[in-house]
Amino acid sequence: MSYRPFLGLVPLAPVDHLILPDLRQAIADFLFLPVKILPTRPLPPQTHHPGRNQYYSTQLLDYLLNDEHGEDPFRILGITAADLYIPIFTFVFGEAQLDGKAAIISTFRPGAGAGEVKPSRSLLLSRLIKLSLHELGHTFGLPHCRQDGCLMGFAANLEKLDQKKTGLCKYCLILLDDYFQSLQDL
Ligand SMILES: [Zn+2]
Ligand SMILES: [Zn+2]
Repeated sequence: MSYRPFLGLVPLAPVDHLILPDLRQAIADFLFLPVKILPTRPLPPQTHHPGRNQYYSTQLLDYLLNDEHGEDPFRILGITAADLYIPIFTFVFGEAQLDGKAAIISTFRPGAGAGEVKPSRSLLLSRLIKLSLHELGHTFGLPHCRQDGCLMGFAANLEKLDQKKTGLCKYCLILLDDYFQSLQDL
């Protein structure tokens, strides 16, 4: 049986499962890659910071990579309702390994967990799609981009996130094409 690369979406409980099928579809359509929703895994308690009441996203990336399920996704995207942090920031929407395998996003802030106006379902979904594609873009080697509205732009807050388009600028598209081309040449 030949191996067909797929992207694994890994829910880290607790997470809103209702949003997953639409998110899965949007990622698959954008990247032209099959995306599978893999079994839900618990959030490891050792990645929780009691003082911040947040989870350390870099440690969660390691956790996502250590999975004995036997499936071998080309990329792994974790999704959790927990608020995430890395030590130098008060929070992060997500994190990814640059040109690596694992990425993670949180639905906490996009879903107004920090006290903003509750988004409609379509706005929430649009935010999660942008965050997913942004973090996955990093795993495909794309750095942050300063082109207006580009998906790879750094968004420090929800307002900035909502201003981004769900698309890459022409430069990032070329970089992404080159990246996939280089994989085929291997
Ligand atoms: Zn980024
Ligand atoms: Zn760009």
